[in-house]
Amino acid sequence: MAGTVLVTGGTGYIGGEVIERLLAKGHSVHTTVRNLAKSEPRLRARWPRAGERLSVFQADLMSDDGWAEANVGCDAVAHVASPFPLSVPKNKNDLIVPAREGTLRALKFAHAAGIARFVQTSSAAAIAYGHPEKNHFDHHDWTNLDADVPPYIESKTVAERAARDWVAAHAPDMAFCSINPVAVFGPVYNDDMSTSVELVKKIIDGSIPLIPDMGICVTDVRDVAEAHVRAIEAPAEKVRGERFPTSEKFMWIREMADVVRARVPEHAGKVPRRPMPDWLVRVLALFMDEMKQIKGELGNVRDVSGKHTEEALGFTFIPAEQTLEDTVRSLVEKGIVKA
Ligand code: NAP
Repeated sequence: MAGTVLVTGGTGYIGGEVIERLLAKGHSVHTTVRNLAKSEPRLRARWPRAGERLSVFQADLMSDDGWAEANVGCDAVAHVASPFPLSVPKNKNDLIVPAREGTLRALKFAHAAGIARFVQTSSAAAIAYGHPEKNHFDHHDWTNLDADVPPYIESKTVAERAARDWVAAHAPDMAFCSINPVAVFGPVYNDDMSTSVELVKKIIDGSIPLIPDMGICVTDVRDVAEAHVRAIEAPAEKVRGERFPTSEKFMWIREMADVVRARVPEHAGKVPRRPMPDWLVRVLALFMDEMKQIKGELGNVRDVSGKHTEEALGFTFIPAEQTLEDTVRSLVEKGIVKA
Protein backbone atom coordinates (compact mmCIF):
# COMPACT_ATOMS: atom_id res chain seq x y z
CA MET A 1 0.00 0.00 0.00
CA ALA A 2 1.33 3.45 -0.89
CA GLY A 3 2.36 5.62 2.03
CA THR A 4 4.48 8.66 2.82
CA VAL A 5 8.24 8.26 3.01
CA LEU A 6 10.82 10.71 4.32
CA VAL A 7 13.93 10.62 2.11
CA THR A 8 16.84 12.55 3.63
CA GLY A 9 19.22 14.16 1.15
CA GLY A 10 16.83 14.61 -1.78
CA THR A 11 19.43 16.66 -3.67
CA GLY A 12 21.83 13.72 -3.88
CA TYR A 13 22.43 11.20 -6.66
CA ILE A 14 20.95 8.25 -4.77
CA GLY A 15 18.37 10.32 -2.83
CA GLY A 16 17.00 11.67 -6.13
CA GLU A 17 16.64 8.20 -7.62
CA VAL A 18 14.91 6.91 -4.47
CA ILE A 19 12.40 9.79 -4.71
CA GLU A 20 11.90 9.07 -8.42
CA ARG A 21 11.00 5.41 -7.71
CA LEU A 22 8.78 6.19 -4.72
CA LEU A 23 6.76 8.75 -6.67
CA ALA A 24 6.48 6.37 -9.63
CA LYS A 25 5.08 3.70 -7.32
CA GLY A 26 2.41 6.03 -5.92
CA HIS A 27 4.02 6.99 -2.62
CA SER A 28 4.13 10.54 -1.31
CA VAL A 29 7.56 11.87 -0.38
CA HIS A 30 8.92 14.25 2.22
CA THR A 31 12.53 15.15 1.64
CA THR A 32 15.16 17.12 3.53
CA VAL A 33 17.68 19.51 1.95
CA ARG A 34 20.26 21.76 3.53
CA ASN A 35 19.22 24.90 1.67
CA LEU A 36 15.49 25.13 0.95
CA ALA A 37 15.66 28.33 -1.13
CA LYS A 38 18.26 26.85 -3.46
CA SER A 39 17.10 23.24 -3.64
CA GLU A 40 13.30 23.26 -3.59
CA PRO A 41 12.93 24.90 -7.05
CA ARG A 42 15.36 22.32 -8.49
CA LEU A 43 13.47 19.40 -6.98
CA ARG A 44 10.11 20.78 -8.17
CA ALA A 45 11.58 21.20 -11.66
CA ARG A 46 12.67 17.56 -11.65
CA TRP A 47 9.21 16.27 -10.61
CA PRO A 48 6.84 18.92 -11.99
CA ARG A 49 3.78 16.69 -11.69
CA ALA A 50 4.39 15.59 -8.10
CA GLY A 51 2.48 18.57 -6.65
CA GLU A 52 1.42 17.92 -3.07
CA ARG A 53 2.90 14.43 -3.17
CA LEU A 54 6.32 16.03 -2.71
CA SER A 55 7.12 18.18 0.33
CA VAL A 56 10.56 19.69 0.88
CA PHE A 57 11.96 20.58 4.33
CA GLN A 58 15.16 22.29 5.40
CA ALA A 59 17.18 20.14 7.82
CA ASP A 60 20.91 19.72 8.35
CA LEU A 61 22.42 16.54 9.75
CA MET A 62 24.13 18.67 12.41
CA SER A 63 21.09 20.49 13.81
CA ASP A 64 17.69 19.51 15.25
CA ASP A 65 15.93 22.27 13.30
CA GLY A 66 13.34 21.04 10.82
CA TRP A 67 13.51 17.30 11.60
CA ALA A 68 10.28 17.07 13.63
CA GLU A 69 8.31 18.81 10.87
CA ALA A 70 9.84 16.64 8.15
CA ASN A 71 8.70 13.43 9.92
CA VAL A 72 5.07 14.44 10.48
CA GLY A 73 2.70 12.07 8.65
CA CYS A 74 5.44 9.70 7.43
CA ASP A 75 5.26 5.90 7.52
CA ALA A 76 8.92 5.18 6.78
CA VAL A 77 12.32 6.87 6.49
CA ALA A 78 15.04 6.31 3.89
CA HIS A 79 18.04 7.99 5.47
CA VAL A 80 20.29 8.64 2.49
CA ALA A 81 22.07 11.93 3.37
CA SER A 82 25.71 11.69 4.44
CA PRO A 83 28.85 13.57 3.40
CA PHE A 84 30.49 11.90 0.38
CA PRO A 85 33.37 14.14 -0.78
CA LEU A 86 35.81 13.50 -3.63
CA SER A 87 38.85 14.45 -1.57
CA VAL A 88 39.97 13.29 1.85
CA PRO A 89 39.27 15.99 4.47
CA LYS A 90 42.13 17.23 6.68
CA ASN A 91 40.07 16.42 9.75
CA LYS A 92 38.37 13.01 9.56
CA ASN A 93 35.69 14.19 11.98
CA ASP A 94 34.32 16.44 9.24
CA LEU A 95 32.94 13.17 7.81
CA ILE A 96 32.53 10.95 10.82
CA VAL A 97 30.62 13.36 13.07
CA PRO A 98 27.84 14.29 10.56
CA ALA A 99 27.56 10.66 9.40
CA ARG A 100 27.11 9.31 12.95
CA GLU A 101 25.22 12.20 14.54
CA GLY A 102 23.06 12.73 11.46
CA THR A 103 22.03 9.07 11.47
CA LEU A 104 21.22 9.12 15.18
CA ARG A 105 19.32 12.39 14.77
CA ALA A 106 17.28 10.95 11.88
CA LEU A 107 16.55 7.80 13.92
CA LYS A 108 15.55 9.66 17.09
CA PHE A 109 13.16 12.01 15.28
CA ALA A 110 11.65 9.11 13.31
CA HIS A 111 11.10 7.10 16.51
CA ALA A 112 9.61 10.11 18.30
CA ALA A 113 7.17 10.52 15.41
CA GLY A 114 6.10 6.86 15.78
CA ILE A 115 7.73 5.70 12.53
CA ALA A 116 8.46 1.98 12.67
CA ARG A 117 10.36 1.48 9.37
CA PHE A 118 13.85 2.94 8.85
CA VAL A 119 16.17 2.18 5.93
CA GLN A 120 19.71 3.49 6.30
CA THR A 121 21.87 4.05 3.23
CA SER A 122 25.07 2.55 4.53
CA SER A 123 27.80 1.32 2.19
CA ALA A 124 30.08 -1.53 1.26
CA ALA A 125 32.53 0.75 3.07
CA ALA A 126 31.04 -0.72 6.26
CA ILE A 127 31.64 -4.28 5.00
CA ALA A 128 34.84 -4.80 3.09
CA TYR A 129 37.80 -2.86 4.54
CA GLY A 130 40.56 -3.54 7.04
CA HIS A 131 40.90 -7.25 6.17
CA PRO A 132 44.04 -7.47 3.99
CA GLU A 133 43.85 -11.28 3.85
CA LYS A 134 40.31 -11.38 2.44
CA ASN A 135 39.03 -10.78 -1.12
CA HIS A 136 35.38 -11.86 -0.97
CA PHE A 137 32.76 -10.31 1.28
CA ASP A 138 29.03 -10.47 1.92
CA HIS A 139 26.37 -9.04 4.24
CA HIS A 140 27.83 -10.87 7.26
CA ASP A 141 31.15 -9.00 7.07
CA TRP A 142 32.08 -5.82 8.88
CA THR A 143 34.94 -3.42 8.16
CA ASN A 144 37.68 -3.72 10.77
CA LEU A 145 38.14 -0.32 12.38
CA ASP A 146 41.26 -1.47 14.23
CA ALA A 147 43.00 -1.31 10.85
CA ASP A 148 44.01 2.02 9.34
CA VAL A 149 41.05 2.79 7.04
CA PRO A 150 40.33 6.08 5.20
CA PRO A 151 37.96 8.58 6.91
CA TYR A 152 34.99 7.99 4.56
CA ILE A 153 35.19 4.23 5.21
CA GLU A 154 35.35 4.90 8.94
CA SER A 155 32.42 7.34 8.76
CA LYS A 156 30.09 4.82 7.10
CA THR A 157 31.11 1.97 9.43
CA VAL A 158 30.74 4.09 12.56
CA ALA A 159 27.34 5.40 11.36
CA GLU A 160 25.93 1.94 10.64
CA ARG A 161 27.23 0.52 13.94
CA ALA A 162 25.84 3.50 15.87
CA ALA A 163 22.43 3.12 14.21
CA ARG A 164 22.23 -0.61 15.01
CA ASP A 165 23.32 -0.04 18.62
CA TRP A 166 20.75 2.73 19.03
CA VAL A 167 17.92 0.65 17.60
CA ALA A 168 18.85 -2.34 19.79
CA ALA A 169 18.82 -0.14 22.89
CA HIS A 170 15.86 2.16 22.20
CA ALA A 171 13.63 0.75 19.45
CA PRO A 172 14.11 -3.02 19.14
CA ASP A 173 10.76 -3.45 17.37
CA MET A 174 11.65 -0.95 14.65
CA ALA A 175 11.99 -2.54 11.19
CA PHE A 176 15.49 -1.15 10.70
CA CYS A 177 17.76 -2.31 7.88
CA SER A 178 20.66 -0.97 5.84
CA ILE A 179 21.33 -0.84 2.11
CA ASN A 180 25.08 -1.24 1.50
CA PRO A 181 25.95 -0.21 -2.06
CA VAL A 182 29.35 -0.63 -3.67
CA ALA A 183 30.45 2.12 -6.13
CA VAL A 184 27.28 3.53 -7.68
CA PHE A 185 27.01 4.36 -11.39
CA GLY A 186 24.18 4.74 -13.88
CA PRO A 187 22.26 7.57 -15.52
CA VAL A 188 22.80 11.03 -14.04
CA TYR A 189 20.10 13.66 -13.78
CA ASN A 190 22.39 16.69 -13.94
CA ASP A 191 26.01 17.73 -13.45
CA ASP A 192 25.59 17.73 -9.66
CA MET A 193 26.58 14.08 -9.60
CA SER A 194 28.10 11.81 -7.03
CA THR A 195 31.79 11.21 -6.39
CA SER A 196 31.39 7.67 -7.78
CA VAL A 197 30.24 8.84 -11.24
CA GLU A 198 33.26 11.15 -11.42
CA LEU A 199 35.34 8.02 -12.08
CA VAL A 200 33.48 7.20 -15.33
CA LYS A 201 33.58 10.87 -16.29
CA LYS A 202 37.35 10.83 -15.87
CA ILE A 203 37.71 7.66 -17.91
CA ILE A 204 35.92 9.19 -20.91
CA ASP A 205 37.00 12.84 -20.73
CA GLY A 206 40.72 12.07 -20.95
CA SER A 207 41.62 13.18 -17.43
CA ILE A 208 42.97 9.69 -16.60
CA PRO A 209 45.71 9.22 -19.23
CA LEU A 210 46.91 5.87 -17.85
CA ILE A 211 44.97 3.11 -16.09
CA PRO A 212 46.00 2.24 -12.51
CA ASP A 213 45.97 -1.44 -11.53
CA MET A 214 42.86 -1.06 -9.47
CA GLY A 215 39.35 -2.47 -9.40
CA ILE A 216 35.97 -1.76 -7.84
CA CYS A 217 32.57 -3.37 -7.53
CA VAL A 218 29.85 -1.80 -9.68
CA THR A 219 26.20 -1.23 -8.81
CA ASP A 220 23.51 0.72 -10.66
CA VAL A 221 21.80 3.71 -9.02
CA ARG A 222 18.46 2.31 -10.26
CA ASP A 223 19.12 -0.95 -8.37
CA VAL A 224 20.20 0.93 -5.26
CA ALA A 225 16.92 2.88 -5.35
CA GLU A 226 14.92 -0.29 -6.05
CA ALA A 227 16.51 -1.94 -3.00
CA HIS A 228 15.49 1.04 -0.83
CA VAL A 229 11.90 0.95 -2.09
CA ARG A 230 11.60 -2.83 -1.70
CA ALA A 231 13.05 -2.60 1.81
CA ILE A 232 10.35 -0.04 2.61
CA GLU A 233 7.52 -2.08 1.09
CA ALA A 234 8.48 -5.61 2.25
CA PRO A 235 6.88 -7.19 5.33
CA ALA A 236 8.67 -5.91 8.46
CA GLU A 237 9.89 -9.39 9.49
CA LYS A 238 11.68 -9.79 6.14
CA VAL A 239 13.86 -6.71 6.63
CA ARG A 240 14.25 -6.17 10.39
CA GLY A 241 17.98 -6.08 11.23
CA GLU A 242 18.98 -6.98 7.67
CA ARG A 243 21.93 -5.72 5.62
CA PHE A 244 21.39 -5.51 1.86
CA PRO A 245 24.59 -5.03 -0.16
CA THR A 246 23.96 -3.97 -3.76
CA SER A 247 26.77 -5.11 -6.04
CA GLU A 248 26.62 -6.52 -9.56
CA LYS A 249 30.25 -7.48 -9.92
CA PHE A 250 33.89 -6.59 -9.34
CA MET A 251 35.72 -5.09 -12.33
CA TRP A 252 39.23 -3.84 -12.92
CA ILE A 253 39.35 -0.25 -14.23
CA ARG A 254 40.97 -1.62 -17.41
CA GLU A 255 37.90 -3.86 -17.89
CA MET A 256 35.62 -0.87 -17.40
CA ALA A 257 37.60 0.97 -20.08
CA ASP A 258 37.22 -2.04 -22.41
CA VAL A 259 33.44 -2.08 -21.85
CA VAL A 260 33.18 1.61 -22.72
CA ARG A 261 35.26 1.08 -25.89
CA ALA A 262 33.13 -1.91 -26.95
CA ARG A 263 29.66 -0.55 -26.13
CA VAL A 264 29.99 3.20 -26.76
CA PRO A 265 32.86 3.44 -29.26
CA GLU A 266 31.61 6.84 -30.48
CA HIS A 267 32.44 8.34 -27.06
CA ALA A 268 35.56 6.32 -26.32
CA GLY A 269 38.16 8.39 -28.18
CA LYS A 270 39.84 9.55 -24.97
CA VAL A 271 39.50 6.32 -22.99
CA PRO A 272 42.99 5.31 -21.82
CA ARG A 273 44.59 2.05 -22.98
CA ARG A 274 47.99 1.96 -21.32
CA PRO A 275 48.58 0.92 -17.68
CA MET A 276 49.84 3.32 -15.04
CA PRO A 277 52.90 1.76 -13.38
CA ASP A 278 52.48 1.19 -9.63
CA TRP A 279 55.60 3.28 -8.92
CA LEU A 280 53.99 6.28 -10.62
CA VAL A 281 50.83 5.93 -8.49
CA ARG A 282 53.07 5.89 -5.38
CA VAL A 283 54.96 9.01 -6.47
CA LEU A 284 51.77 10.91 -7.38
CA ALA A 285 50.24 9.85 -4.06
CA LEU A 286 52.82 12.04 -2.33
CA PHE A 287 50.95 15.16 -3.43
CA MET A 288 47.59 14.07 -4.94
CA ASP A 289 44.72 13.08 -2.63
CA GLU A 290 42.99 10.87 -5.19
CA MET A 291 46.21 8.95 -5.85
CA LYS A 292 46.62 8.44 -2.11
CA GLN A 293 43.31 6.55 -2.12
CA ILE A 294 44.26 4.55 -5.23
CA LYS A 295 47.65 3.61 -3.79
CA GLY A 296 46.00 1.54 -1.06
CA GLU A 297 43.93 -0.34 -3.64
CA LEU A 298 46.67 -1.36 -6.11
CA GLY A 299 46.17 -4.98 -7.23
CA ASN A 300 43.42 -5.56 -4.61
CA VAL A 301 40.36 -7.67 -5.30
CA ARG A 302 37.63 -6.43 -2.96
CA ASP A 303 34.60 -8.35 -4.17
CA VAL A 304 31.32 -7.76 -2.34
CA SER A 305 28.44 -10.12 -3.09
CA GLY A 306 24.94 -8.74 -3.61
CA LYS A 307 23.37 -12.19 -4.00
CA HIS A 308 21.65 -12.07 -0.62
CA THR A 309 19.91 -8.83 -1.60
CA GLU A 310 18.70 -10.21 -4.93
CA GLU A 311 17.29 -13.27 -3.17
CA ALA A 312 15.81 -11.51 -0.14
CA LEU A 313 14.29 -8.54 -1.98
CA GLY A 314 13.37 -10.51 -5.10
CA PHE A 315 14.92 -8.72 -8.04
CA THR A 316 17.91 -9.05 -10.36
CA PHE A 317 20.61 -6.40 -10.69
CA ILE A 318 21.27 -4.62 -14.00
CA PRO A 319 24.47 -6.02 -15.62
CA ALA A 320 27.49 -3.81 -14.92
CA GLU A 321 28.20 -3.47 -18.65
CA GLN A 322 24.74 -1.95 -19.18
CA THR A 323 25.23 0.35 -16.20
CA LEU A 324 28.53 1.63 -17.59
CA GLU A 325 27.06 2.17 -21.05
CA ASP A 326 24.08 4.06 -19.61
CA THR A 327 26.40 6.18 -17.42
CA VAL A 328 28.48 7.23 -20.42
CA ARG A 329 25.45 7.93 -22.62
CA SER A 330 23.81 10.08 -19.96
CA LEU A 331 27.02 12.04 -19.20
CA VAL A 332 27.25 12.89 -22.91
CA GLU A 333 23.50 13.50 -23.36
CA LYS A 334 23.43 15.95 -20.43
CA GLY A 335 26.44 17.79 -21.90
CA ILE A 336 28.58 16.97 -18.85
CA VAL A 337 31.26 15.33 -21.00
CA LYS A 338 32.09 16.34 -24.53
CA ALA A 339 33.47 12.99 -25.67
P1 NAP B 1 25.72 12.80 -3.07
O1 NAP B 1 25.11 12.93 -4.40
O2 NAP B 1 26.94 13.58 -2.74
O3 NAP B 1 24.60 13.06 -1.96
C1 NAP B 1 24.89 13.29 -0.61
C2 NAP B 1 23.65 13.86 0.02
O4 NAP B 1 23.89 14.04 1.42
C3 NAP B 1 23.29 15.23 -0.55
O5 NAP B 1 21.88 15.32 -0.65
C4 NAP B 1 23.82 16.17 0.51
O6 NAP B 1 23.13 17.41 0.56
C5 NAP B 1 23.55 15.38 1.76
N1 NAP B 1 24.36 15.87 2.88
C6 NAP B 1 25.69 15.83 3.02
N2 NAP B 1 26.05 16.42 4.18
C7 NAP B 1 24.90 16.82 4.77
C8 NAP B 1 24.59 17.51 5.98
N3 NAP B 1 25.54 17.92 6.85
N4 NAP B 1 23.29 17.78 6.26
C9 NAP B 1 22.29 17.39 5.42
N5 NAP B 1 22.53 16.74 4.25
C10 NAP B 1 23.81 16.47 3.95
O7 NAP B 1 26.13 11.28 -2.78
P2 NAP B 1 25.37 9.92 -3.08
O8 NAP B 1 26.26 9.09 -3.91
O9 NAP B 1 23.98 10.13 -3.51
O10 NAP B 1 25.40 9.30 -1.62
C11 NAP B 1 24.23 9.19 -0.85
C12 NAP B 1 24.46 8.16 0.24
O11 NAP B 1 24.86 6.92 -0.36
C13 NAP B 1 25.57 8.53 1.22
O12 NAP B 1 25.13 8.07 2.49
C14 NAP B 1 26.76 7.73 0.73
O13 NAP B 1 27.63 7.46 1.78
C15 NAP B 1 26.06 6.46 0.26
N6 NAP B 1 26.81 5.66 -0.72
C16 NAP B 1 27.16 6.18 -1.94
C17 NAP B 1 27.88 5.39 -2.84
C18 NAP B 1 28.29 5.88 -4.20
O14 NAP B 1 29.14 5.24 -4.84
N7 NAP B 1 27.73 6.98 -4.69
C19 NAP B 1 28.24 4.07 -2.48
C20 NAP B 1 27.86 3.59 -1.23
C21 NAP B 1 27.13 4.38 -0.36
P3 NAP B 1 23.69 18.71 -0.20
O15 NAP B 1 23.11 18.66 -1.57
O16 NAP B 1 23.16 19.82 0.61
O17 NAP B 1 25.20 18.62 -0.19
